[in-house]
Amino acid sequence: MTTRQRQPQFLRAMGIDVWVRRKHRVRDKASETSVASRASVAPEFSAAASAAVAQMDWETLRATVATCVRCSLHKTRTQTVFGVGALTADWLLVGEAPGVDEDRKGEPFVGRAGQLLNNMLFAMGLKREDVYIANILKCWPPKNRDPRPEEVISCEPYLKRQIQLIQPKIILALGRVAAHNLLKVDMPVGRMRGIRYEYLGFGIPVVVTYHPAYLLRSPREKLKAWQDLQFAKSVLESVA
Ligand code: SF4
Repeated sequence: MTTRQRQPQFLRAMGIDVWVRRKHRVRDKASETSVASRASVAPEFSAAASAAVAQMDWETLRATVATCVRCSLHKTRTQTVFGVGALTADWLLVGEAPGVDEDRKGEPFVGRAGQLLNNMLFAMGLKREDVYIANILKCWPPKNRDPRPEEVISCEPYLKRQIQLIQPKIILALGRVAAHNLLKVDMPVGRMRGIRYEYLGFGIPVVVTYHPAYLLRSPREKLKAWQDLQFAKSVLESVA
């Protein structure tokens, strides 16, 4: 059976009834990932601390995150949510922050949003263990509020080190918070779709799509997410 023949099954897995192929714009927006906007964020992690994190191996990084008190979120978490998946994955999926279920289980994307993410991966012919899944923040923001800028800045060196260690071929930004903080741009997700960005300084392509939790609330957008996944796949194939 060809990939095309399998597509209806994949679409059903994502809860999509119809498939309309869309021609994607393929534009390299690396230059728009504004160095200026990035520079406007004042780092709270000291240069020395960031440099130390940038040298850590997986074991040290994991242990450091587990005991991190860099921002106030350590006071309300049950545990840190480091990330999960293949340490040499081609795909890195980045979400926003742990929710209350993830805080309890210590794993990103569990519950209904996690199940939909698994289905999205299945739609691409991937299993959860084939990719690496992480979040912008490692600790749960109470009441699932948006991450605060100082929390993102404090936590950023950890994700950056994970990216250095994994060296993924593509990063899929899941939702507004992930897209804005990975790319340092401030646009609606709908306007960031279908564009090939670049993770600043790493040369890794970044593609933006909707967060699975948003897709649960807005199932009509699942078709767009499917299109984004196809676009991401084409970007990966172009760099592989
Ligand atoms: S969110 Fe990140 S920086 Fe803040 S305490 Fe947790 S691990 Fe540390």
